[in-house]
Amino acid sequence: MKSVWRRVFGPFYISVAMLLLSLPAQSAEVEGVRLWRAPDHTRLVFDLSGPAEHKLFTLSGPHRVVIDVADTRLAAQFDDLELDNTPIARVRHGRHNKKDLRVVLDLKQQVKPRSFALRRHEDLPDRLVIDLHDRVQSEEKTLQQVGGERDIVIAIDAGHGGEDPGASGPGGLREKDVVLAISKKLKAALEKQPGFAARLVRSGDYYIPLRGRVKKGREMRADLFVSIHADAFHRKDARGAGVYAVSSRGATSETARFLAQRENESDLIGGAGSLNIGDKDDTLAGVLLDLSMTATMNASLDIGASVLSRIGGITHLHKKQVEQANFSVLRSPDVPSILVETGFITNPREARHLRDPSFQRKMARALSDGIVAHFSSRPPAGTWLAANPGKGERRHTIGRGDTLSGIAARYNVSVSALKRLNGIDSSVIRVGQTLTIPSG
Ligand SMILES: [Zn+2]
Repeated sequence: MKSVWRRVFGPFYISVAMLLLSLPAQSAEVEGVRLWRAPDHTRLVFDLSGPAEHKLFTLSGPHRVVIDVADTRLAAQFDDLELDNTPIARVRHGRHNKKDLRVVLDLKQQVKPRSFALRRHEDLPDRLVIDLHDRVQSEEKTLQQVGGERDIVIAIDAGHGGEDPGASGPGGLREKDVVLAISKKLKAALEKQPGFAARLVRSGDYYIPLRGRVKKGREMRADLFVSIHADAFHRKDARGAGVYAVSSRGATSETARFLAQRENESDLIGGAGSLNIGDKDDTLAGVLLDLSMTATMNASLDIGASVLSRIGGITHLHKKQVEQANFSVLRSPDVPSILVETGFITNPREARHLRDPSFQRKMARALSDGIVAHFSSRPPAGTWLAANPGKGERRHTIGRGDTLSGIAARYNVSVSALKRLNGIDSSVIRVGQTLTIPSG
């Protein structure tokens, strides 16, 4: 039996083997293509079936970007790309040197292109990323108010974005969308507060490398950098919000370590290749970072505690203290920074909250109240709030253990004025209820 089998199929096997040998070993396919628009650049991502070498060059008259991907076939469509509001007018493709894929981007305007490869990561394939920089992003200046008293600037960093969706929950709920919605609501809440200005580090669906986020916070001269996340855990019953500050010593809990590791992987997914930071400075920068870190670490823990107490009024807390772990996005030597995990997107109950605009608003208000409370008690020198003590905070969300008399004493107002303004008849107050604080 065996010899018959071999006699019949043997030659066939040999010819298949020869065919495989004659095929190039590295042959790849472009299996998908996606496009993201950021304020200062447009990102084009090719999903590859395997790693492939590429070359990029530009031509002028008219302006074009040409990408040659070695030994690769196109198995995707360029037709569905949304090119409005990008510098790309049209995408063409053809073969080059018989085996290579040539993609030509016809441009509406001149751009500064940059490209890099991202290696396969978890369920994401090998990718080729092309960034077309078309705008020099104007550095946001701190608002200087008349009289020289400045606003307290809060940099709000919505985690993930674009190529990096972050964690995902039931019904295709994506962390990057939830945290952007909460961030925008937080900005709106903070800007209602006298003496505060808020800026979004990410304002749309695009990726910013972790170090790029930190850099933006510093360019904004932020008094606080808040990174907003909604995380995932392998156990579905993991629940609760948490506040994290950076620690170079290690994590205070297993979850903190797990989350930091997860968040730090963002650049592998979203792509950090577009950020050029001279690596030679890294050692020195690292030493300076660790030295100056201690000062901002204490401030971060204080702000974190203030924020945590307000969040505790509206949702379950994962831990009652600010947790510490080595989150890359929090490693800024001179800007106090916290990371807020607004809930577990993998927990069905919390996912329902996180996608609900009214919960998002409550969360944003609690965050804003915690931030404002901290800076009201310790306004930085030179700010409007330092010159106008007691006038900053206009609202207070009731946390566990709050009493009317305690709140009145804290803001230096009378209990009766507080009750009158908020239409309270008895002395019963609810956790999570927001009170307006009388001025003066
Ligand atoms: Zn995250």
